[in-house]
Amino acid sequence: MDGLKILFADVIVDITNDQVDNIFEYSFTDCEITLGSRVVVPFGKREIEGIVIAVKNTPRYELDKIKPISKLLEDTPALTEETLALMEHVSKKCYVTRALALRLFLPSEMRKGKVKEQFIKYLRLCDGVSIEQAVIGLKKSAVKQKELLNAFAEKDSLGYTYCVENFSVSAIKGLIEKGLIEIYKEKYNRSPYKHIETTSKDITLTDRQKSAVNSVIATEKTTSLIYGVTGSGKTEVYLNLIENTIKNGQTAIMLVPEIALTPQMLKQLRARFNDNAAILHSGLSAGERFDEWWRLRNGQARIAIGARSAIFAPLENIGLIIIDEEHDGSYVSESSPRYNTIEVAKFRAEYSGAKLVLGSATPSIESYKNALDGVYNLIELPERINKRSLPDVEIVDMRKEIRRGNNSPFSSALKEELQKCLDRGNQAIIFLNQRGYSKMVICTECGHVQKCEACDVSLTYHKEDNSLLCHYCGAKYKMIDACTECGSRFIRYGGTGTEKVVIELQKLFPKARILRMDKDTTQSKEGHFKILSTFANKGADILVGTQMIAKGHDFPSVTLVGILDADMSLHFSDYRSGERTFQLITQVAGRSGRAEQVGKVVLQTYSPEHPVLQRATKYDYQNLYKHEISVRKATGFPPFTNVVRVLISSENEEEAVKVTKSIYGEINLIYLENRDKFRFLGCMKAPLKRLQNKFRYQVLMRIDVNCTELIDKVFYVSDKYKSNKMFIALEINSNNLT
Ligand code: ADP
Ligand code: ZN
Ligand code: ZN
Repeated sequence: MDGLKILFADVIVDITNDQVDNIFEYSFTDCEITLGSRVVVPFGKREIEGIVIAVKNTPRYELDKIKPISKLLEDTPALTEETLALMEHVSKKCYVTRALALRLFLPSEMRKGKVKEQFIKYLRLCDGVSIEQAVIGLKKSAVKQKELLNAFAEKDSLGYTYCVENFSVSAIKGLIEKGLIEIYKEKYNRSPYKHIETTSKDITLTDRQKSAVNSVIATEKTTSLIYGVTGSGKTEVYLNLIENTIKNGQTAIMLVPEIALTPQMLKQLRARFNDNAAILHSGLSAGERFDEWWRLRNGQARIAIGARSAIFAPLENIGLIIIDEEHDGSYVSESSPRYNTIEVAKFRAEYSGAKLVLGSATPSIESYKNALDGVYNLIELPERINKRSLPDVEIVDMRKEIRRGNNSPFSSALKEELQKCLDRGNQAIIFLNQRGYSKMVICTECGHVQKCEACDVSLTYHKEDNSLLCHYCGAKYKMIDACTECGSRFIRYGGTGTEKVVIELQKLFPKARILRMDKDTTQSKEGHFKILSTFANKGADILVGTQMIAKGHDFPSVTLVGILDADMSLHFSDYRSGERTFQLITQVAGRSGRAEQVGKVVLQTYSPEHPVLQRATKYDYQNLYKHEISVRKATGFPPFTNVVRVLISSENEEEAVKVTKSIYGEINLIYLENRDKFRFLGCMKAPLKRLQNKFRYQVLMRIDVNCTELIDKVFYVSDKYKSNKMFIALEINSNNLT
């Protein structure tokens, strides 16, 4: 066959079997097929999708064993050399198969062709047709056809559905048959947040902002850390850096920690860059995500914005990656593949020669250490724009409130401040990291706490749909009217949630317009956006919410922030609880007093003298850092070690215990050979003992940094025990060691 050279491809086949890395060899002659192409291949008796990850002249296997690729799915390869390299990196670093790593790079709807491009049909005159002459040629009775023809006098093209509705299908058919008009199709982009109004402020950068921009551009280091207090104008710095990148003909990725923050950022990006910004996150409709993805892949959009998964955006020639609020826990994925977004970003930036910018008012201890050690380029923005002061933080001792007989979720200080705030026509934010009405329901007779049948977790009462919800597995139960243990009808609610806060607030301030923002109120499409824009447009006076409202938002009229439960994260048994609490308070407090008016924060706690809270009220990051870093050095916690957990779970508890012991035994051998590199090794029940009917055990260890080969060994010994009935996961510095 002349000219038809046979080539060979390694193809990752998209089947969910995480035991095998599904790479198979196929042949092809279609010259359009290349590295990164999505293809359909024969697999056993089926035809399945796959991705070409290597193209070769000579096959590994014997020719007659190699089947040809059946079909090329799209002309443009979905992956590039760079994203393929990144996929390999993720697969190695996160200990997952390539097939699983690949899924990060493709909108899930693209697989199995669940979503396709959308086209819209239009009508236009055929070439050389003159309306006047054509009308003369029509029968007198063809009124509709004449009207339709005349409609083209004003417009070159008309929507097909418009014509069906306003004329008739038979009129359209008639004109097409006469060769007067024709149908053509045009691709239609499903574009999210279409009705968002763009905001563009005419801003001249301050000298500090200018030097921040210049510093990122000038530094030879890949990574810059912008340590800038809340309201110091970091966003403006990001926008200028992006502008510079686009001018250089390169592309940029901008990450924010919450989906809720993407519309705000998109507004500003659209104001400057129009359609050049595309948004990627899980809250979009399948079609929108698909179209936005392709706009990035085709180069129609050169700025990708989104939450953590947008780090896998299909961009080429990347010049800049920005991770805003880099300290945020959401940047570490907690389900497989368990990737750390900053690590992935570093790889991408280094591979492409791009700049990585991390920004925060409260950098993670690890990032700040890297900056002090000179690994990162450190840029500081120590003041708010126009030297506005950071809001005053008042600590309220809730123990005293209770002694005084105040059992409501609000201290008298907070009530007073709320009243003042509302009287002045300002807005307030009330933060509480617990959704639902009450965290648990307890029997006052026997003390029984209602628990999930599948998990070792107390159920949260949701008043709106009168149900008990498991926040871990999502199971929903009917609210009880009597204790399931003793039958008593005396049920107490323990622990306040956002639903209850709204109800109580409404009682206190009957005229106030209150909005609630949490997982339950943001399920609808663009749900975040609707609540936030209502609040931004002063359609409400008080916004009550969970961590969704804690970060990033810029509401000029907010002058009061109430933090209801700072203690929840403070007493969490995790080496980062101090760091996390400090970050949270600083972030929430940072929402107050961002414009002309001075802001105020009321922080309610049962541990008012706790050093972390004391430092947080003074925004004393430096001393928090000094304290944390010395404690972690002394006790051997990150960033000096990696916390590694092997999580073993199974429906069969006996088997889980057996496997845990075996894994522990094998890891112990590694430990004995490397005592100097281990800071801790132990095995035990996981803090959350049962989840979705699976019993959970763990082998926990801390290994010095720079000993990744030891983590590899730990993975290989544990992975052997994996089976359909034995779930085994390796977690490195996970944010959630429940
Ligand atoms: P951060 O991201 O550091 O919290 P923002 O970038 O949101 O801070 O800036 C805080 C506020 O200051 C915003 O309303 C922003 O529009 C405004 N701002 C930023 N830079 C300037 C500037 N150079 N001149 C005037 N206003 C500015
Ligand atoms: Zn009871
Ligand atoms: Zn459950």
